[in-house]
Amino acid sequence: LNNRLLDADKLSIAGEMAAGVAHEIRNPLTSIRGFIQLIEEEQNANSTYTAIMKSEITRIDGILNEFLMLAKPHTHQFSSCSINQILSDIILLFETECHLRSVTIDYECNEDAYIQCDSNQLKQVFINLFKNAIESMSDGGRLAIQTKLSSEKDTVTITITDTGSGVPKEILAHIHKPFFTTKTHGTGLGLMVSNKIIAAHEGNLDIQSQQGKGTTISIMFPTVKKAEELIHL
Ligand code: ADP
Ligand code: MG
Repeated sequence: LNNRLLDADKLSIAGEMAAGVAHEIRNPLTSIRGFIQLIEEEQNANSTYTAIMKSEITRIDGILNEFLMLAKPHTHQFSSCSINQILSDIILLFETECHLRSVTIDYECNEDAYIQCDSNQLKQVFINLFKNAIESMSDGGRLAIQTKLSSEKDTVTITITDTGSGVPKEILAHIHKPFFTTKTHGTGLGLMVSNKIIAAHEGNLDIQSQQGKGTTISIMFPTVKKAEELIHL
C-alpha cells in the first residue's frame, strides 16, 4: 500500500509539473500567434510561411491540450450524465466538418443510459475517436455511432464505426502508444489519452479493424441510475 501511495504521489507531482509547463508554453505561443497575425496584416498577404507557422502553433497547442488532459486526472468532477446527451453534443460539433468531408453521420441511441463521469473528459474521448474516424475517411464515408445496454442494463456499450482506411494488422498493437502516429500532422496522443480517461471511468475500449474496410471502436462503461432515481431510493 505504501508503495502505491508513493506512486500516486509521484504521478500527481508529475501531473502538476506537466500542467505548469504546458501553461508556461501556451502564453508565449499565444503572443507569437498574435504577431504572425500582425505580420500578415501589415504585408497584406497570407504567405505560405506564415500559414505553416500558424498550423504548427495549432499543432503544439493540440499537444499541450492533450497533456493538460492527462495532467489533471485527480481533479475529475464526477456526476451522473446521460450518454445520449454527451454524444448528441459532440455529434453537433462535428456536423459541419463531416458535411465538408462527405461523411454521413448515423446516430442510433436505442435506450439512454446514465454513467458516472466527468462529462468534459468523456467528451474529449469522443472528440478524439470521431476525429480519428473522420480522418481515416479521406474520400468520405459513413460514421455510425450506436449505444446498446446490456441485458442486465448494468453496462452500456458505445460503438463507433467508420468506413475508412482501417488499421493494418502489423501496427494495430502500436497505435495506443504515445506519439505513435501515421499522420503528417498527428500528435499520436489521442488514443492514449482516451484510454487513460476511459480507464479512470472503469470502462474499457476495444478496437476491431480491417485494412481497407474500416474500424469499429467499442467502449463499455458501467451504468448508474440517474440522479433523481437515486434520491428517491
Ligand atoms: P493521431 O490521430 O494524432 O495520429 P491517435 O493516438 O489518435 O493519434 O491515433 C494513432 C494512430 O492510430 C493514427 O495515426 C492512425 O494510424 C491509427 N488510427 C486510430 N484510429 C483510427 C481509425 N478510426 N481508422 C484508421 N486508423 C486509425
Ligand atoms: Mg487522433
